[in-house]
Amino acid sequence: MTQLILTARCIHALADHEHYLSAEQGITKRIAELIDSCELPKKKNKYGLVECDTDEKGRSKTHLWEAYNADTECDSGYGMRRYSPDEVEQYLAESECRHCISAYRLIQQRKNIRKELGRARRSIRRLGKESVKFLDRVEFE
Ligand SMILES: [Zn+2]
Repeated sequence: MTQLILTARCIHALADHEHYLSAEQGITKRIAELIDSCELPKKKNKYGLVECDTDEKGRSKTHLWEAYNADTECDSGYGMRRYSPDEVEQYLAESECRHCISAYRLIQQRKNIRKELGRARRSIRRLGKESVKFLDRVEFE
């Protein structure tokens, strides 16, 4: 392989990776903003100050949190399970919280972006190995 082709492939791989990484960071920031906008966990304390109801991990108990943490009976009638993606969607639709509904949609989109980001990372790794071989060959010429 010529140096020019390897160089071009490296540039494309890096640009691809950067594209998906910044998309992932942007969508993650937007999800956090939407989750912060949910009014459900915000309660006024006895001094009139707004406090946020959180779980033991410090996550706000939003509609989205409730949907992810709700237990429902297994179809078999034995034991409990978490909501399926369809049930999460239905729960959020019934909550009518536009922030949590939008956050959930973006979380689904982010899964696809993260798959592409993983593919881009593997591509860079492959090119890195090819570059090492290329440099080994060039140094002996
Ligand atoms: Zn909400």
